[in-house]
Amino acid sequence: MVSNSSNTHEVNNKKQIINNSMDSNVIDKYGFCFPASGTLKRKTETEEEKEIRLKQLTGAVTTILECLGEDPNREGLLKTPERYAKALLFFTEGYEKDINEVVNNAIFEEDHDGMVIVKDIEIFSLCEHHLVPFSGKIHIAYIPDKKVIGLSKIARITEMISRRLQIQERITKQVCDVLEEVLQPKGIAVVMESSHFCMVMRGVQKTQSCTITCNTTGVFKEDIKLKEEFLSLIKH
Ligand SMILES: [Zn+2]
Repeated sequence: MVSNSSNTHEVNNKKQIINNSMDSNVIDKYGFCFPASGTLKRKTETEEEKEIRLKQLTGAVTTILECLGEDPNREGLLKTPERYAKALLFFTEGYEKDINEVVNNAIFEEDHDGMVIVKDIEIFSLCEHHLVPFSGKIHIAYIPDKKVIGLSKIARITEMISRRLQIQERITKQVCDVLEEVLQPKGIAVVMESSHFCMVMRGVQKTQSCTITCNTTGVFKEDIKLKEEFLSLIKH
């Protein structure tokens, strides 16, 4: 059993932040659940309010089309604003979820103390700087400390986190943070590889570039061999 006091301290601090920020504009600075008060509003709104949101967003997309120099009234574009508004709401559906719902008590007492790896989980997200998609794969490993999580929940957690306006570095970190929060395992390692359309289609136009981010905690941080074992196991 390896204890990592700085980690424990970090988690406590985060909890503190969540509690302290309940009254502020930012509901959850940590970003697991509600990064802004508007997020909470979105999550708790009525069917009627959902309709209003969709209408507003549809209007905004019509404005975008006009700004592009297009005619929103031509046949091919008539339904585009509403379609795109619905698509955007789907791409950001993660804002309507929170950890407790996603994990849904699927944490089990178990003596297994070997590495648990879930690899090649597909990720689709929107870059918060350009609102352009990025997609890739995430690989997750943890060493349990008497608690394991239902495997499908790991994929659900990555969905909750990636279906928001994101950057890859934060997805990698938040997946780690959520697992730390719900499992307090001996260690976590998360690797994400992704291709960003804001790099491929604009800017530097590097079509083959792949961005890799990695986050580790606990034993994965301390034990280089363990980290190497994880990296070799996720190799294609
Ligand atoms: Zn971008």
